Amino acid sequence: MTTIVMKFGGTSVANIDRIKNVANIIEKRKLEKTRIAVVVSAMAGVTNDLVEKSKQISSNFSKEEYDVLLSSGEQVTASLLSAALQDKGIKSRSMMSWQIPIVTEGQHKNSRIISINSKAINDYLDKDFVIIVPGFQGISQDMRTTTIGRGGSDASAVALAKSLDADRCEIYTDVEGVYSTNPAICDKAKKIEKISYDEMLEMASLGAKVMQSTSVQKAMINDVEIYVKSTFAPEKEGTAILPEDKISYDKVVTGVAYSKDDAKFTLQGVKDRPGVASAIFKPLYDNGISVDMIVQNISADNQKTDVTFTTKREDYDKTKKLISGLKDKIDFEALLTDKDVAKISIVGAGMITHPGVAFKMFNALASKDINIQVISTSEIKISVLIDEKNTEQAVKTLHSVFDLD
Ligand code: ADP
Ligand code: ASP
Ligand code: MG
Repeated sequence: MTTIVMKFGGTSVANIDRIKNVANIIEKRKLEKTRIAVVVSAMAGVTNDLVEKSKQISSNFSKEEYDVLLSSGEQVTASLLSAALQDKGIKSRSMMSWQIPIVTEGQHKNSRIISINSKAINDYLDKDFVIIVPGFQGISQDMRTTTIGRGGSDASAVALAKSLDADRCEIYTDVEGVYSTNPAICDKAKKIEKISYDEMLEMASLGAKVMQSTSVQKAMINDVEIYVKSTFAPEKEGTAILPEDKISYDKVVTGVAYSKDDAKFTLQGVKDRPGVASAIFKPLYDNGISVDMIVQNISADNQKTDVTFTTKREDYDKTKKLISGLKDKIDFEALLTDKDVAKISIVGAGMITHPGVAFKMFNALASKDINIQVISTSEIKISVLIDEKNTEQAVKTLHSVFDLD
């Protein structure tokens, strides 16, 4: 018998009518004699609301209690959906992560799932139950409630699909699949029929939040095939996320992603000597701050250089303080910072075999008078940092230049 995992995101379960709609979708699948485990997100807006509440209590809200608080949203949806199924005469029960258990390791707020006891769930699936599991939450080895990072229900679904050895993992969301760019800002965005794990991982890490990046990484490592579909048009074919060998590339660029999560720092007039880069980045490493893009200019006179880098915008204040504190260790003239930046990326495995992609990208942006501040590349992506106000224009321009419209 086929086993499937179906995950429903926040907008899909945003209110009672939508939860009843989800129950109808599950009921239809149940008629196909399928074993079904469901992962649910919190109702749209609930997790953000809980974050706000924690801030109102304390700016120092403990991370252990934060996880207890935030995981509650998913519990509410799990019970409502299970009861909606029961109301239709379908056998169903919710199972909290501590009841299964779904064990995690790592820091609170950002834990990783390391094991799921599939036996507990399989026993119920064998008895024809639909099992509803709250996404995003787990339990640590010392029995504390944990959460696995924002958007983490996608990763819960993939982990569950792996542990149940499911035939499919279906991610139901508010768009019909993965698009060539975010359809919310570009009306010419096209649904992608099939995309490789590598490309999806780049797209997700570079801002396409339709899939959370950890979930894609997990799927890639464990060969879990993902199907992204719309909760509001479940009969339509969505996007399949598959291994590379199941895909043929007819385009150089598969998608355009953007994010507004970065902040830029430039150290001007840094005295050029061996060890200077390491001196700049050591305090960031010591404080768990990830650095993304880096450029160091060649110093024409071998005397002074400029170093530019980006961090997550949420680390802006901490980074500014740490770098300002380096004045007595390294010699630099000024620290310039900018939070109004956006990172625009083109992603595509087709790039590997096609020269001139970078030129085409830079030329297209130049034609719209968009200045490129920082560039970074990998085998299958090129990212540029630009002024945030040009985000939409840059995305639309690149989408059209690379024949994605
Ligand atoms: P869910 O609550 O179901 O997890 P999310 O809000 O996390 O849904 O992700 C879906 C959203 O991702 C879409 O509404 C869309 O605006 C956004 N998105 C960004 N980039 C893309 C893309 N390339 N393709 C599809 N959706 C995208
Ligand atoms: N509810 C959590 C969040 O909003 C997890 C999720 O929806 O995937 O981040
Ligand atoms: Mg999501």
